[in-house]
Amino acid sequence: MEMYIDPHIHVTSRTTDDYEAMRKAGIVAIIEPAFWLGQPRTEAASFKDYFSSLVGWERFRAKQFGILHYCTIGLNSKEANNEPLAEQVMELLPLYAGKQGVVAIGEIGYDDQTAAEDKFYRLQLELAKEMDLPVMIHTPHRDKKKGTTKSMDVSEEHGLAPNMVIVDHNNEETVKEVLDRGYWAAFTIYPHTKMGSERMVEIVKQYGPERIIVDSAADWGISDPLAVPKTAALMRKMGIPEEHIRMTCYQNALTAYAQSGQMDELDWLNAEPIDQTKKMSGNSVLRGGQVPRVDGPSDRVEN
Ligand SMILES: [Zn+2]
Repeated sequence: MEMYIDPHIHVTSRTTDDYEAMRKAGIVAIIEPAFWLGQPRTEAASFKDYFSSLVGWERFRAKQFGILHYCTIGLNSKEANNEPLAEQVMELLPLYAGKQGVVAIGEIGYDDQTAAEDKFYRLQLELAKEMDLPVMIHTPHRDKKKGTTKSMDVSEEHGLAPNMVIVDHNNEETVKEVLDRGYWAAFTIYPHTKMGSERMVEIVKQYGPERIIVDSAADWGISDPLAVPKTAALMRKMGIPEEHIRMTCYQNALTAYAQSGQMDELDWLNAEPIDQTKKMSGNSVLRGGQVPRVDGPSDRVEN
């Protein structure tokens, strides 16, 4: 069975059915970037609890379905525009960025490309440098080309090496520059949109598999937690070599984020079998009377 990594998915807002389907489709590890929740938070304490859940409960929950969960910690660009709150969040970041399973500072960058966004993006680049962590960049959906170029320019101004920076939400307009400048180029596959699996296949055909990463960015919006395995299946059907599929849907994400020292293939190859009788602080994923799934050693991920 093929193994996949979805290196950008907001599983906090997905269901256990999604987790089961993802694992069944071959997803063995995921990265959940800290992001905004659909409405602005009003207190720094809300960020604190959110970061705690990313390194705590969600990590546990994913494991109950046979998936290794990693995350990135950061102040998203939208909420950087509330400066007094953003200042307080900046103080929280170092406390969480050093926790187990945190593989990058992210997702950070520009939304409306305001002065406040610029300020907090720069501060977080400095934090990433200080902590020797990779950076996951969220490129803006509006004025994307300019915002993507600027994200890289500013990152270089702060002395970050391109190989430590994953630029996400690319499209045909941005990919060439991102790759030429030595960055990782991630692509978010949204259903029913311009950046669908078909176009992803074309990009891999054109640019090859080097430093290209496929992800779903699935969240509380209309999105698909199976976008990575589905895109891989389409690549296979369209005759993309198996090694290119492995690189874009598994290995490149692993290589990029393993630079954090927090992500290792052995994490899932040597993982304990699923045991849903386990609890975290007395809490379980089971509801009244459900039979826990407990796998034997033979259910381990096969390499
Ligand atoms: Zn995201």
